[in-house]
Amino acid sequence: MLIGIGPDIAAFSSSGLFYILRPTKLNYSFKVATTFSNKETPMRSRLFRVYRAAGVIIVVVFLCGPQLRATAAADIPTPQQFLGFRVGEDKKLARWEKIVEYMQIIARGSNRVKFRELGKTTNNNPFILLEISSAENIKNLEHLKQLEQKLYFLGGAPTDSERDELFRSGKAVVLVSCNIHSTEIGSSQMVLELVHRLATEDSPLVKKILDNTIFLLVPSLNPDGQIIVTDWYNKNLGTEYEASPLPWLYHPYIGHDNNRDMYMFTQKESQLTAQLLWHDWFPSVWLDEHQMGSQGARIFVMPATDPINQNVHPLIYRWNGILGQAQAAALEAAGKEGIIYNSTYTNFWQGAMAWSGWWHNQVGLLTEVASARIASPLEQRRAQPGRPPAPAPEEDFQSQQRRQMENPNEPLPPPRDITPRTEYPRPWLGGKWTLRDIVDYELIATMALLETAADYREQLLHQIYEVNRATVESGLKGDTTAIIISSKQHDSREAAHLVERLQMAGIEVSQTEAPFEVDGKSYPAGTFVIPMNQVFARYAKDLLEKQTYPEVRRGPNSPPEPPYDVTAWSLGMQMGVDVVFAKKPLPGGISVTRLRSTPKVNGEVRGEGKRFSFDYGGADSAAAINRLLKAGGEAEIVLTSVGEKARVSATGVQRDVVQGLARDLGVVIQPASASNGKLGTAPGSPEKPTQPSTVRLLRTPRIGLYQSWTANMDEGWTRWVLEQYGFAYTNLHNGDIKAGRLREKFDSIILPDQQPRDILNGFDFKTIREEYRGGIGEQGVDALRQFIREGGTLIALGASCDLMIDKFPIPVRNLKRGLNRDQHFAPGTILRIQVDNSHPIGLGMPAETYGFYNNSPFFSLVEGFSSQKASVVARYPNSDVVASGWLKGEELMAGRAAVVSIEMYPGRIVLFGLRPQHRAQTHATFPLLFNSLYMVELKN
Ligand SMILES: [Zn+2]
Repeated sequence: MLIGIGPDIAAFSSSGLFYILRPTKLNYSFKVATTFSNKETPMRSRLFRVYRAAGVIIVVVFLCGPQLRATAAADIPTPQQFLGFRVGEDKKLARWEKIVEYMQIIARGSNRVKFRELGKTTNNNPFILLEISSAENIKNLEHLKQLEQKLYFLGGAPTDSERDELFRSGKAVVLVSCNIHSTEIGSSQMVLELVHRLATEDSPLVKKILDNTIFLLVPSLNPDGQIIVTDWYNKNLGTEYEASPLPWLYHPYIGHDNNRDMYMFTQKESQLTAQLLWHDWFPSVWLDEHQMGSQGARIFVMPATDPINQNVHPLIYRWNGILGQAQAAALEAAGKEGIIYNSTYTNFWQGAMAWSGWWHNQVGLLTEVASARIASPLEQRRAQPGRPPAPAPEEDFQSQQRRQMENPNEPLPPPRDITPRTEYPRPWLGGKWTLRDIVDYELIATMALLETAADYREQLLHQIYEVNRATVESGLKGDTTAIIISSKQHDSREAAHLVERLQMAGIEVSQTEAPFEVDGKSYPAGTFVIPMNQVFARYAKDLLEKQTYPEVRRGPNSPPEPPYDVTAWSLGMQMGVDVVFAKKPLPGGISVTRLRSTPKVNGEVRGEGKRFSFDYGGADSAAAINRLLKAGGEAEIVLTSVGEKARVSATGVQRDVVQGLARDLGVVIQPASASNGKLGTAPGSPEKPTQPSTVRLLRTPRIGLYQSWTANMDEGWTRWVLEQYGFAYTNLHNGDIKAGRLREKFDSIILPDQQPRDILNGFDFKTIREEYRGGIGEQGVDALRQFIREGGTLIALGASCDLMIDKFPIPVRNLKRGLNRDQHFAPGTILRIQVDNSHPIGLGMPAETYGFYNNSPFFSLVEGFSSQKASVVARYPNSDVVASGWLKGEELMAGRAAVVSIEMYPGRIVLFGLRPQHRAQTHATFPLLFNSLYMVELKN
């Protein structure tokens, strides 16, 4: 037990011996000043009693007044004591449950740390947040949170006195999120030392940080993946497979693309993060910690590189520089090598974690530290400064990866970028690199961020307030007064889905109570209105408008630089929802209601009868059909083209199922006549005699979805989309396909977007576990051929179309092949498409809509195959192909085919050049994929 008396500390030992410890001058350690025992001289015995009495009083206060307790540093084990190894030690990893347990221990032992479980992950693991600040701030946390919310105008603009109080007492609220990419594992380990230090250290630096900031820490944005990667690493540790890549995704559905979900919010982890950012804490600074490749710079810090996005307030980019460069300076001061900024990561794109804060007037930051081999060290040969590196063949990232996989124990080639310059003054020249190096760089960078935020507390609050105020004011006098989303759309449910996404991002949306007119257009009651005089207006504008990507070239004769990710996201286009930017204010007297919950489209059941019908249009219609099929067994659905809208006619399910469709899926259900395929007439749409395209479904199609051992994200996204809409599927691995007899089990097989080389050969190195080596091979191609011959539908997405074109005698050419980047380049672009909605695959689609395109194939049909019938289901228009984003070589795509269906009699191949389910965003084109799954005429 320890008791402080003046400068001394008295210590009772259990043996009755009693020490007086006096602090040494030079540091915070103590030396034994004297020792007593009650058995000694009377004077010493009296002194002992005085100290003991004082001690008892202090002990009573200590035990009875927990709120007066100082940080009980002694109760908190160090990470090393807790784990049994030093954080970052070679070949050692703390698994997620140990990280959570340790954080709970710290939170129990420290009044500076609060532990919160924000929810459960996809695999039902805890998704946690730590709130870290001084003991006094933690006591006042709710009040301080309200001040921060006021900074972001929650509940309206702050009054002058609220604003002054905010500047005086508000804190710099800094969020650090870690480990979204699970193989980038360093930050999930680093946090153990970071939190221990902040919880226990009493240095002036830590005190300054705790007094002036509220530090929000998410130790992993993807706990499921932390577990998946740790287990895979430990399983292979010490074997010949130690460097073997994970054969599946490190997120249950979407792998690395979990950092591409910050406007669609499809996954639980993205939703929890959005909730924390834009509904709970509104942090003004947000650092997302990553790792990058192993060959070059050791750490990337902000600012990132051109082009910028003009919807972001310039001051946000300036703070990127201030905070990023403070991190760089701290790393330089610590003698660290290889610190770079202004490279690789472009500033334009929404969708990544920290980036998405910019349009919310939050200073989003990124660090990327060079990777080891998970927890195993890496060797890299040293470069010779002054001597240019030997020319190496141009190698794409995938080939580089393959080469390293083949020879994991060979040292990496020396770094090639060794020219000192402004953004990279001390280049990395090679050497050994370990997990501990990663932890060290991240600790320095994170502490530097916190210190700088503490130093700049007041300035940060003032300037963020100004950005927020300016944003709201420009909404009152800018070009756009409001964004209008009519409640009447090709599929009104999609308008509601779009509004729900906006609400998740903190956007305020209202709904009108009566019809109105603005800019000469009329809108029905129930139309959604997004006023631009709101603090996140920049986000709503950028998310919904057409993107214009500014080409960046290093020199006048250099080719354009590729963007880091996609160049278009216009979410209204992607979801098939018309969005209008209003120039004039809404007419006065129009009554609008602020939406407090997510909007919902209500369906209804009209009339009675066993046979009924409903509109087939939009992705949700497929969910309705699948539910019917699952419930009934006897359900027969007929899709018949009636003008632009198709109809579903069905029988054989209980009335409560029908009512469930109306209630849950917004379906309007009407009685249909009993004759086969004859539909009741939808009100307002006179039945036209058309050439009916009919698809009969007597049961849910049996779907096989190819899953290679190369961890393909498009497979994961496809799986997720199928599940959301109630399609049952089976994952097919190489062995399943090679085994053949596929038609006995499946009606349709989907090959996700994947290079033919990966499908055919997979990874085939001795460092890969045998069960995950190879691809489907020629034997698998034969099995697919047989599947088509027996009437199956084979659906190829994106790059896998080339496998069909190469291996099957189909009358289609991929025109993208052989074009270089100067001729044709579209790294994520939204294109206009024309759909043949009399074709069964186009059923229920509008004749003109938008498709997402990402350097995938586009087609022309070839004459002279009489045994097949190829139809173009969707094509690009003859002019104005680009709807949003960047496309080089637009003229090459004009009039070309985007989706082709080839009747092989009896089977069928469907080629998707455009990306019908891209990252689960493209609701407008989901029906093309769903219809192709329904194409098989199912018999019992
Ligand atoms: Zn990353």
